[in-house]
Amino acid sequence: MLNKKTEDQIQIKGKRILVRCDFNVPLKGGVITDDTRIRAALPTIRKLSGDGGKVILCSHLGKVKNGPNPGESLAAVAVRLEELLGKKVTFVDNDNVTGPETTAVVNAMQEGDIVLLQNTRFRGADETKNGEGFSKELADLADSFVCDAFGSAHRAHASVVGVTKFISEKGGDNAVGYLMEKEINFLGNAVENPKRPFVAILGGAKIADKLNVISNLLEKCDTLIIGGGMAYTFLKAKGYEIGKSLLDETKIDYCREMMEKAEKLGKTLLLPVDAVTTESFPDPIDAKVKTKNFAADEIPADRMGMDIGPKTIKLFSKAIKNAKTVVWNGPMGVFENPQLAKGTKAVAEAMAETDAVTVIGGGDSAAAVNQLGFADKMSHISTGGGASLEFLEGKELPGVVAADDMPAEA
Ligand code: AMP
Repeated sequence: MLNKKTEDQIQIKGKRILVRCDFNVPLKGGVITDDTRIRAALPTIRKLSGDGGKVILCSHLGKVKNGPNPGESLAAVAVRLEELLGKKVTFVDNDNVTGPETTAVVNAMQEGDIVLLQNTRFRGADETKNGEGFSKELADLADSFVCDAFGSAHRAHASVVGVTKFISEKGGDNAVGYLMEKEINFLGNAVENPKRPFVAILGGAKIADKLNVISNLLEKCDTLIIGGGMAYTFLKAKGYEIGKSLLDETKIDYCREMMEKAEKLGKTLLLPVDAVTTESFPDPIDAKVKTKNFAADEIPADRMGMDIGPKTIKLFSKAIKNAKTVVWNGPMGVFENPQLAKGTKAVAEAMAETDAVTVIGGGDSAAAVNQLGFADKMSHISTGGGASLEFLEGKELPGVVAADDMPAEA
């Protein structure tokens, strides 16, 4: 269904191939605490190197607010990558990313060699504002470009989008890599061509971040489940008192509209029927708390809903068990606290137990599924939180749009 050129359709042997990866991994004191994103990039790197390409990898890491710094260097990624590949990875420790030092390393590459450039965000606005100069410098290093950074595909940055124009100008190919292909096919099939019933589950704190996702998924799914902090604005819109629970006053009308839309379309919109409440937000977040359960329409004025309650767990789990496709984004409660993680865990468990196609939309829900050890029970766990949300909104991702269209005869 992906109508874009893939890495299987480009010339590889002897060619310099620039690959945009998403190596934005969590680092603690220089140590990578989760290498999922590096592992996810391996099939593309192995293929390009194995087929005799000269593989030039690039990525961002972190937000890089204060210019180049060792804490956001990709050096640790190069080491981990080398271990995982069992093959030498040459790290070009050049804060400018491109320039004579980098060009010299690339010029010395043999077929199959792998080079990793420094953090593209070390170039500041050159990268994040899709600067033409930096885009061309990157393109000058290579013959063709493969974008495999699904987690960055929603950003029109130089190393994701800008570079493709200059690769095209010199007659090179702009393809998507295996990870991009897999992500788009899983997310795309789940939303556009789902086996039904299709149940979509949304959670997390901020409803404002997910307005378009709610609206788009309501059109595509059979049942939309809403949990987490964002559910309370819906409950308020139903006329319930929600105590001190999270509320976005400005979105009450929107929630009403969505409930009407669900009814008009004949879709089931499931909201929490009970809540695990506390007196205040735990500080620190994993501090021991005194919890008390209440029906969703009986939350006392001085308490806040922090997780879905046992009746809601049953309701949501039943819908998940009857589904043939389930897509999930966002926790059901303040899952960082073990006492408030039961709802999130129950959803993950119900998904792990079904034979349905199960897709986890990155971010917190992916972290929860990994932590709980259910990762291998899911059909697909997206590596991109923001990107998968934009995908679920039905938006086109700039990093995908920028790739060459599939040749007509293919
Ligand atoms: P988001 O970034 O919008 O996906 O939200 C994720 C965050 O939502 C997590 O850090 C959770 O702790 C938080 N969250 C989930 N449920 C609630 C709730 N009922 N009240 C406050 N925060 C919540």
